[in-house]
Amino acid sequence: MTQQKEKKVEEIRKEAEQARACPVQKALYYMEEFLSGPMCGRCFPCALGAYEARVRLQRLSRGQGGSEDVAVLGRISQQMLASSMCKKGKDSAAFLAEWLKTDVFEAHAQGRCPQRSCPALVSYRIVPELCIMCGDCQEVCKFNAILGEKALPYRSGYRPFEIRQLRCTSCGECVKVCPTNAIEVLDRAEAEKEKVQT
Ligand code: SF4
Ligand code: SF4
Ligand code: SF4
Repeated sequence: MTQQKEKKVEEIRKEAEQARACPVQKALYYMEEFLSGPMCGRCFPCALGAYEARVRLQRLSRGQGGSEDVAVLGRISQQMLASSMCKKGKDSAAFLAEWLKTDVFEAHAQGRCPQRSCPALVSYRIVPELCIMCGDCQEVCKFNAILGEKALPYRSGYRPFEIRQLRCTSCGECVKVCPTNAIEVLDRAEAEKEKVQT
């Protein structure tokens, strides 16, 4: 029985490491999976701490968090580590503490995802000089967020494609298909600043 539980948390951790690039997302993935199973609730720091950790991680990944959330996550991991009665709780606390060692959490508190993978913290933009107006990005965008007309060889006067920021969900699908790497991913905060300055 104990062995099954040990394997489960290791499996979740492995999945989190493989499925997400950003440590905040990895930790959030882990906590969501951890909480999706039955919670025995025998020790408060684990039972309540895991819920609170999920809330704080969600705030950070949505760009709504601050340094206080990072500090709370640190306290939760330490209390869970010290007071959890089973290996499942202790391992979970250790994973969280390990992810927290990076300065990526504090970057999220300041509104930046260094891996540029938290959709709420990034912005997509087409570099006009690189766009060949092939229309591939428009075809894959499920949110109708790309403006432009596919260029035909016998006509002229086309303009480079543009992303409608209000519709873009930062799903990243357009980047995967662009043949000229014309779509760049920026920090949302920086992109907003540029917009204000221009
Ligand atoms: S540490 Fe173990 S025993 Fe305690 S609440 Fe968490 S899962 Fe249950
Ligand atoms: S990131 Fe997603 S939603 Fe935004 S323009 Fe590209 S495909 Fe569309
Ligand atoms: S896929 Fe790239 S090159 Fe083609 S229209 Fe979109 S941004 Fe321009």
